[in-house]
Amino acid sequence: MFTLKSLPYAADALAPHISARTMNLHHGKHLQTYVDNLNKLIEGTDFEKMELEEIIRKTHNKEDLVSIFNNAGQVYNHNFFWDSLRPAQAENSMPVELTAQIERDFGSIEKMAEQFKALALSQFGSGWAWLVTDGDRLKVMKTANGEPVFLRGVKPLLALDVWEHSYYVDYENRRGEYIDAVLNHLFNWDFAAHNAIL
Ligand code: MN
Repeated sequence: MFTLKSLPYAADALAPHISARTMNLHHGKHLQTYVDNLNKLIEGTDFEKMELEEIIRKTHNKEDLVSIFNNAGQVYNHNFFWDSLRPAQAENSMPVELTAQIERDFGSIEKMAEQFKALALSQFGSGWAWLVTDGDRLKVMKTANGEPVFLRGVKPLLALDVWEHSYYVDYENRRGEYIDAVLNHLFNWDFAAHNAIL
């Protein structure tokens, strides 16, 4: 039985970049629905005893288990996404080692942000944009629908939800403004750095 994990900050902590209204809908309604669906789908099956990541790996590319895969993937992705953000008012300078790694692999922080934004904009329909480490190289990647990026054999450092439900209330159809706001004000670089050295 999975439960809705609490947000790591108050629902209004990301404002004005992401409103409390969006967070309450996104966490309290959308994610709650994925959690409820997952619990219903795995009730009475072997999946009940498994951790989320194991469920995702075991249902990946299995046509008859696609609903479990989609809901489990969305629960995993959202939990990772909340941790990828930090309160808008918090002190948040990028750790020195992460800055050096980004400069080595992208040329500059600005170039990394440009690549991340272009990729997040290019995801047609629903999906996710990620900053990852592939071996010891940093990369940006995208996945469709509820697919967690760890299935590609890379380690996620940061996730951005680009489903319309994550930005439509605050930005309507302007996905690019939402991506800029998260890149400039909300990404938790300490969390990224922590994931990079694990
Ligand atoms: Mn979402």
